[in-house]
Amino acid sequence: MAFSPTASTTPDSYLWFAEALLAWYPRHRRDLPWRHTRDPYFIWLSEVILQQTRVKQGLPYYLTFSSNYPTVQALAAAPPDEVLRHWQGLGYYSRARNMHYTAQQVVAEFGGQFPDSYARLLLLKGVGQYTAAAVASFAYDEPVAVLDGNVFRVLARVFGLHHDIAAPASRKKFQQLADQLIPAEQPAEFNQAIMEFGALQCTPAKPDCMFCPIQSSCFAFQHGMAAELPVKSKAKAARTRYFHYLVLRHADTVYLRKRGPKDIWEGLYDFALHETESAELPGAELLAEVERLGGRVATDRVGEPAVAARHILSHQKVEARFHEVWLAEPLSATATSAGLAVYRSEEVEQLPKSILITNYISNKQI
Ligand code: SF4
Repeated sequence: MAFSPTASTTPDSYLWFAEALLAWYPRHRRDLPWRHTRDPYFIWLSEVILQQTRVKQGLPYYLTFSSNYPTVQALAAAPPDEVLRHWQGLGYYSRARNMHYTAQQVVAEFGGQFPDSYARLLLLKGVGQYTAAAVASFAYDEPVAVLDGNVFRVLARVFGLHHDIAAPASRKKFQQLADQLIPAEQPAEFNQAIMEFGALQCTPAKPDCMFCPIQSSCFAFQHGMAAELPVKSKAKAARTRYFHYLVLRHADTVYLRKRGPKDIWEGLYDFALHETESAELPGAELLAEVERLGGRVATDRVGEPAVAARHILSHQKVEARFHEVWLAEPLSATATSAGLAVYRSEEVEQLPKSILITNYISNKQI
């Protein structure tokens, strides 16, 4: 069962912390559009977009989504490809799919109204503890403490918590502390303040300790341990995958397919993919793959040499090679069973694609 934060009265010994952050915040906060609304839909939208994303990168996406889909109903009714297309370049595409699903759930099961409490927000399939706490506090003033990377870092340093923040069991310790720190009368302001403090003052590298208003009470500063805290065990090394893309072209068309589930980039479009154990693809293997897809290589038109590109994801490194292949005639029906479909350039532009594919297409001007 998920751990549920419970609001508690801030003990006197902790009051200084909220007071210091609430004094710091109005003087340093960034003016961001989602800070001017109490509408749970826009707050939720901003929180989904900003997960694992810097504000500078996420802001244009927030503006795109909030203007294209000004209501949760509009987002719920949008075609999935269109939602992914707007998300293109932001990465972690499962967030876009979950966001779309959640909007549909709000419309179908909650009459288009966002649930109005932390506990009820957790009934939404795509909403986790962090997002539920953010929406509940920012929209409804519910005193539930948010825990994101910034908050983990600030708490670990200020209070000297040495628990591994990558370990799920540590979350409970941090949550208990955060729930004691949050003032019942200003939960939204406090949550915004601690996250902003982590983003601007107590940063991961080079925190601004010299001009920090709480340095005299900060464990990390007093013990010279800002660089060691928070403790975070190393993630497993990323696995390398070798993607050989067959860019099958005929006249002014090119073949793409929609990626399936249970792998990266679900729902995005890419070319015919031949995944191997190495960066090299022998010519005979390439030709056999084209034939398997029902294609016949044109003898009068030679494709460009293979183009190499690398794409780093959180747990995978993709070494890609794009092999341009000009076909003698359109692909046979076999290609359809492999999921391939033919597109003109202007249609390709409209398809949602990973940044790896988008960069290749724009460089090649397909
Ligand atoms: S003194 Fe340094 S480590 Fe401590 S809260 Fe301030 S910025 Fe963070």
